[in-house]
Amino acid sequence: MPNVIIGIFLVLFTLEFVVELVLNELNIRQVRKSRAAQAVPEFFQDRISKDEYEQSARYTLAKSRFRRWSEVYGRIVILFLLFGGLLPLLENLIIAMLPQSLANSHIRGVLFCLAVGAILSLASLPIDLYSTFGIESRFGFNKTTLSLYFSDKLKGLILGILIGGPFLFVVLWLMQATGEYWWIWAFVFITLFQLLMIIIFPTFIAPWFNKFEPLASGELRDRIQALAKQIGFKSSGIFLMDGSKRSAHSNAYFTGIGRAKRIVLFDTLIEQMSIEQGLAVLAHEMGHYKMKHVRRMMLMQGLILFVGLYILSRLVNYEPVFSAFDLQPSNHAALVLFSLLSGPLTFYLAPLVNLLSRKHEYEADRFAVITLGKGKPMEEALINLTVKNLSNLTPNPWYSAYHYSHPTPTERIGAIRRITT
Ligand SMILES: [Zn+2]
Repeated sequence: MPNVIIGIFLVLFTLEFVVELVLNELNIRQVRKSRAAQAVPEFFQDRISKDEYEQSARYTLAKSRFRRWSEVYGRIVILFLLFGGLLPLLENLIIAMLPQSLANSHIRGVLFCLAVGAILSLASLPIDLYSTFGIESRFGFNKTTLSLYFSDKLKGLILGILIGGPFLFVVLWLMQATGEYWWIWAFVFITLFQLLMIIIFPTFIAPWFNKFEPLASGELRDRIQALAKQIGFKSSGIFLMDGSKRSAHSNAYFTGIGRAKRIVLFDTLIEQMSIEQGLAVLAHEMGHYKMKHVRRMMLMQGLILFVGLYILSRLVNYEPVFSAFDLQPSNHAALVLFSLLSGPLTFYLAPLVNLLSRKHEYEADRFAVITLGKGKPMEEALINLTVKNLSNLTPNPWYSAYHYSHPTPTERIGAIRRITT
């Protein structure tokens, strides 16, 4: 039986790899073809210079070519972790290190999970370093220094231990203490935990990495406040973030629920945009709030979690899964194996989640257009963002359907035109 499990996993794992590679190749071909034909999409024709178009194609191609290798490398890491004897070695190491009295406690399980997490992050470091200091720097986006980069990583590690440690401890405890239906208890706990994170993230965690300031007074703020009043959005929740500290990429997002909700604008975005465009971006973000998109997204993820935990609850008592990877059956080993083995299956959920996310983007655009009574500022803002960020103007439709959480700029502008005409 263990061999059958390994066989099925390897088939699914290879399939995921092939799908990922094929999508990437399709995207590369599409960009090359459009670049050779100088096929700038209609909405961008007078809005992007020849140089900017060329640069955006080069940027996309550089990232996609690197993706080929990072994809292969990531696969090797997972295979090594699963089949290289690392997991049993870790297990033994932790048992040897812990005092006898803790050898069978949840502490051991927590350490095992955290150690696997640490190995995975360490392994992804070279990929991340090259993306940041290689590609992003080459195209003038990276503003991070090595010291800032590593202090970010260190903070991430500390948060991982401080938040992930207790979280894992409770999950492992529930798995052991609440009997057959532990997975329902775990579901309730994880959902509440996520809710707590959504509430504390903007106020307690994000400020550790960035400065958030209320927008400075001026025409933009006055008009935003008027807009917020019209929509019914509590206007103290609009913040400017020093995104330029790390990257020249510009962005805006809406996060949090209830009183913790806030709209965050990158300083890079404000610099690049006219007041009309900035207002359109804010109206779009307020649209996310108005239509309760955070809640709807959580509901979808909750559903996936519920099914995932149920499957895990069946797996926990199935000995061959453990022996397939030379591990003794335990709850913490089940957690780690489940998260490593489920990748090739959850991979197919990504396009579904993205589909919902893209639906939300269309709705927020629509909201902005209707609220402002015109579509032009939203269109201009989108064009501006796309050009400044050197976003891919001509993604392959399969690739974007699979990977994009936002519709392509061409799709979005097309939808805006359909509302306004
Ligand atoms: Zn949005």
